[in-house]
Amino acid sequence: MLRSILSAALIGAGAIPLYSQGPALPVKYEELTAPEFVQALKASQDTVLIPCGVLEKHGTHLPLGTDMLAVRELAVRAAQREYAVVFPHYFFSQIFEARHQPGTIAYSETLIWQVLQETCDELARNGFRKILLVNGHGGNTNFLTYFCQAQLAKRRDYAVFLYQGLGVQDPEIEKLRKSGGGYHAEEMETSNMMAIRPELAHPERAGQESGADQKRLSLPGLYTGIWWYASYPNHYSGDASVATKRLGELALDKGVEALAKTLKTLKADTSTLALQKEFHDRSDKPSGQR
Ligand SMILES: [Zn+2]
Repeated sequence: MLRSILSAALIGAGAIPLYSQGPALPVKYEELTAPEFVQALKASQDTVLIPCGVLEKHGTHLPLGTDMLAVRELAVRAAQREYAVVFPHYFFSQIFEARHQPGTIAYSETLIWQVLQETCDELARNGFRKILLVNGHGGNTNFLTYFCQAQLAKRRDYAVFLYQGLGVQDPEIEKLRKSGGGYHAEEMETSNMMAIRPELAHPERAGQESGADQKRLSLPGLYTGIWWYASYPNHYSGDASVATKRLGELALDKGVEALAKTLKTLKADTSTLALQKEFHDRSDKPSGQR
């Protein structure tokens, strides 16, 4: 019998009672049985999230998989609130700038593209029509934006979206912050790990290396790949020593709420796929020839 047709009260440990009514399907892709997968497609309105993480140094105080663990946790919690399927831990991301640090897995630019494209293709072959990339790794932003743009290169029966609601400033969160910011393994990211995996976060070790901008390159108006290494050779930016679990919990709650809201909008959307079809119909015959 399908677990999903049982009421939440009857379900044993490990199942996730998602709604007051309706199915109690796992949101984690790898926890669905094949028959449940078919139900999950329907319950999610063909929507799946790929939480994009990476394996890279996070100062001296956070684990290599910080982005991967944090973004998956966010995605899972949001999908539990607004049902969607969440792809397993994913770490095929752009991270050349940390190759000099222990533990970094920097796949080639062609491989990360291909793995992501084939993952999307396979998800679509299985019935998903809306694929939401939730990026947990700053070094991936340009890659993922371009990946979404490039999806228009050919006709597809699915659409790829990139979640843009992360990192939005919130006055309540800002009030709790003690440091002046930073970009990597800093107060916010460390607080987040203290909230989700406290045993893996060691803010007391944060001072072992400097997270200050080394300012070794000054080329206003120019972008070049070595900029990050020039500023932050320790692959740490900010001050994590002031991180708190409370800040992490607040930010996670707000992040889950915002992502769940976006998920609801995405699930209801019918315009994107219709516009994609219209676009490709026109692109195939741009002069309107029959
Ligand atoms: Zn990170």
